[in-house]
Amino acid sequence: MKIVVIGTGYVGLVSGACFADFGHHVTCVDKDPKKIEMLERNEMPIWEPGLDSLVESNVRKGRLEFTTRLSPALPDADAVFIAVGTPSRRGDGHADLTYVFNAVRELAQKLEHPVVVVTKSTVPVGTGDEIAKILKEEGAPEGCSVASNPEFLREGAAIADFKHPDRILIGANDDKAREVLREIYRPLFLNKAPMLFVSRRTAELTKYAANAFLATKISFINEMADLCEAVGADVQDVARGIGLDNRIGPKFLHAGPGYGGSCFPKDTLALLRTAEEAGVENQIVNAVVKVNDDRKNGMAARVEKAMGGSVSGKTVAVLGLTFKPNTDDMRDAPSIPLVNMLVEKGAKVQAYDPVGMEMAKPHMPEDGVTYADGEMTAINGADALVIVTEWDEFRALDLDAVKAAMKGDKLLDLRNIYERDEAERAGFDYRPIGR
Ligand code: NAD
Repeated sequence: MKIVVIGTGYVGLVSGACFADFGHHVTCVDKDPKKIEMLERNEMPIWEPGLDSLVESNVRKGRLEFTTRLSPALPDADAVFIAVGTPSRRGDGHADLTYVFNAVRELAQKLEHPVVVVTKSTVPVGTGDEIAKILKEEGAPEGCSVASNPEFLREGAAIADFKHPDRILIGANDDKAREVLREIYRPLFLNKAPMLFVSRRTAELTKYAANAFLATKISFINEMADLCEAVGADVQDVARGIGLDNRIGPKFLHAGPGYGGSCFPKDTLALLRTAEEAGVENQIVNAVVKVNDDRKNGMAARVEKAMGGSVSGKTVAVLGLTFKPNTDDMRDAPSIPLVNMLVEKGAKVQAYDPVGMEMAKPHMPEDGVTYADGEMTAINGADALVIVTEWDEFRALDLDAVKAAMKGDKLLDLRNIYERDEAERAGFDYRPIGR
């Protein structure tokens, strides 16, 4: 198959490289010339484990190309995937579809033969209908199909997720789209990945339902963590105790500083807007969003409380800035409100993240934060240490050495990666979440 992917970000680049690895010919198009220039030098514009070698080998085999120009990529294409961003629209939380519709308009004007247009971006119900309308209005050749194929990969494990998905969801209203997509994913079908064929609208909604459900699990366990703290129970054990029940499942039951990232915050909001427009109340998702906002905004107060009520004039070491480990993605990361509020309250923050510091800087206050070159530099002389992101390299710190390098004794472990005994043995006033 000949595939064009529009948008070479976390989803487009991984999808394009994996499709090429299946044996298809893929052209990845991005309007950001810097990204394309980097890719042409085999430098990755995003940090994703294993991506560089996957891209390099497929480029070498002539199956993967990069360009800023859509037209030359289109002849002979069977399918064009749209993988551009769909951020929250400022102010109202609706998914901003400007990038999607602009890409479709350009595509419609440049296509010379019918193709299957596939939305990989997460888009609200009805977007496929709108895309079909735009294709027609802008004079795309007769016979184009529009399908929805939402992506479920996780950053940090994106290649494995793409190649071994729990399911492949295809929303298509015609046989041509179903056939082309079945052929594209055939290599995975042979691996027995379940392929679900549903209507386009159903596929669009399923993606939001999946993210909202996962966000619900996180907000739920975070509320349980608060309850555990109040009544002297251990949320880790509660999570294990409920998670071993197959009806519940163990994943997404880690209490922490609230969910962030490029998907859950914006997708839960967009789902609420969809429900509102449809005149349907989504009380659960509403509560999930509120619990999470309160949680993220409450982390600075937790530090303040640990420090006896004020962080003014104190030095706080923050380990981990990205919204989760193994990515450089800072979108909606819990570290953003935490660091900003700490600085606002008069603290000096010494931050360290293994890969996310450059991406973090625009989200952080200009004054009051210094960026360390390693965890021990960040910790040096700190009154408190806050572990915000559970990067592997923070999981086995020499706590005696950490304590000796610090001025104070507060250890706020927002990811529960240490045991109370070992932290207390090293002399810390240890403050985990929900235990
Ligand atoms: P991203 O911001 O990393 O990448 C989007 C890319 O599209 C950018 O490089 C941008 O330059 C490019 N672009 C925008 N308009 C373009 C145009 N007209 N022509 C060519 N290129 C254009 O976004 P992302 O994180 O890859 O997310 C893409 C979509 O996938 C979103 O809808 C998101 O919700 C969804 N999604 C993301 C993830 C994730 O983990 N990041 C997972 C599943 C689904």
